[in-house]
Amino acid sequence: MGGSEPCLLVGMVLGMEQRDYSGLSYWLETCGDDLTPRVGLDTSIAVDVAILGAGYTGLWTAYYLAQRDPSLTIAVLESEIAGYGASGRNGAWCTSGFAAGPATLTKNYGLAASRAVHLAMVDTVDEIGRVCERESIDAQFQRDGQFFAAIGKQQLPALAHIEQEYTQLGFPEFQRRLDASEAKAFLNIDGIVGALHNEATAAIHPGRLVRGLARNVEQHRNVTIYEDTPVTSVEAGARPVLRTARGDVRANVVVLAGEAYMAQLKAVGRQVLPLYSLIVMTEPLSDSQIADINWTHRAVAASQALTVDYLSRTQDGRILFGGRGAPYHWGSSIRPEYDLHAPTHQRLREAVVEWFPQLKGIAFSHAWGGCLGVPRDFMPVMRYDRASGLATARGYTGEGVAATNLSGRVLADLITGTQSDLTDLPMTKHHGRSWEPEPLRFLATRLAQVGAMRIDAKANRTGKPPTGRTLTERLISH
Ligand SMILES: Cc1cc2nc3c(=O)[nH]c(=O)nc-3n(C[C@H](O)[C@H](O)[C@H](O)COP(=O)(O)OP(=O)(O)OC[C@H]3O[C@@H](n4cnc5c(N)ncnc54)[C@H](O)[C@@H]3O)c2cc1C
Repeated sequence: MGGSEPCLLVGMVLGMEQRDYSGLSYWLETCGDDLTPRVGLDTSIAVDVAILGAGYTGLWTAYYLAQRDPSLTIAVLESEIAGYGASGRNGAWCTSGFAAGPATLTKNYGLAASRAVHLAMVDTVDEIGRVCERESIDAQFQRDGQFFAAIGKQQLPALAHIEQEYTQLGFPEFQRRLDASEAKAFLNIDGIVGALHNEATAAIHPGRLVRGLARNVEQHRNVTIYEDTPVTSVEAGARPVLRTARGDVRANVVVLAGEAYMAQLKAVGRQVLPLYSLIVMTEPLSDSQIADINWTHRAVAASQALTVDYLSRTQDGRILFGGRGAPYHWGSSIRPEYDLHAPTHQRLREAVVEWFPQLKGIAFSHAWGGCLGVPRDFMPVMRYDRASGLATARGYTGEGVAATNLSGRVLADLITGTQSDLTDLPMTKHHGRSWEPEPLRFLATRLAQVGAMRIDAKANRTGKPPTGRTLTERLISH
């Protein structure tokens, strides 16, 4: 079974320890790439742009920078391997959804800015499809859309709220409403009473995307990825620096693309909160099981539960069921052993059969987890500050698979001084707020996590929707 923390295979290479990264997720296990770390940095160097992190954000930024200006020398520093973080472990939703929803964006930045973000995100999903095609990255990109199910009548008001948001945005046709029988015909979920479907989402193979991108940027003459190279500190200035134990990288611009893991860097530590999200995966379903639940397409799906669930279907017919709820850890700590949380994984396995009782007895092949980066105000940041020499893109919460591509283009435009529609998006001017110091951060996060579970349980029991007025709902609303 996959999904254990990377085990240490001692003595593989001349007595040196080698981690087995394929155990981190089904996606890395089946990405078809050699996961042996690339050569690490072993001396100090100078480049034009130094990027911390070889996830989607770092790699898309390198990709578009090299495209905008092929003469730029670019170094990507990665503490483990490309795709080690959320990019190699996610739920496969390449969604046009954005961490800050339309109503929040309209309230904070106005209707025009909110519409611009929506249109940019819809185009971003297509852009990822275009790049995969152009660069022959076999990411199994399939654009069958996103399905929001109301499971029980208590979830119907949440659907109405989404519909209203898009109507106010001026795109009433974006979410297509399905009644109970139409919804069941689309995806045969037990207890489904209605749904919304929009087409602007693809299911992908996250591991193939991130590893394919890494191979692709290396083909640009001037991009080098140094793996097994943890950055220990960042220095801003006219010539900013990424410091490592084996050498420093001095650059004209430093890009911080470490998402949740940046919680561990002194300079930006309280800008993101690492929240664990966990996943279980079934063995491939038979053709008749797929037909029974009507999941013949690869639309991704979620209910309206506050605790957050997300489902997708792999190309070979497995169901991925993900959910939050694994506990936040004191001091924003991140450890390999936190990827696995037995009670949460068990709850997710049970949920698969609650959603699809026809699958009772289905075997599960994988279980894994990882952390996503949550900004204090749920608003992603895509910024370049010329004075400090630092650029960053972060804070996607659970919606970064597509948004990271937008980040790459935004940062490439900002860094190369290319004026575009993207450089005016609100994320480019946003600074973000710091999370509270401990113990407040721990107490508030745990309170919100437990509160969301209680509210969901009560709504399911009583058939009444959450009031929207509880402290928990105010803590997590965005
Ligand atoms: C379980 C899970 C499910 C998710 N599901 C979805 C989904 O279905 N759809 C969606 O849109 N989003 C989803 N997300 C979120 C999405 O995966 C992320 O937003 C996205 O991958 C972020 O990419 P990134 O490159 O910014 O960060 P990451 O992929 O986390 O990459 C950051 C990289 O930086 C490296 N790094 C960090 N610190 C250092 C350092 N000091 N030195 C060197 N390297 C460093 C890390 O090792 C890592 O490789 C999910 C996240 C998780 C964890």
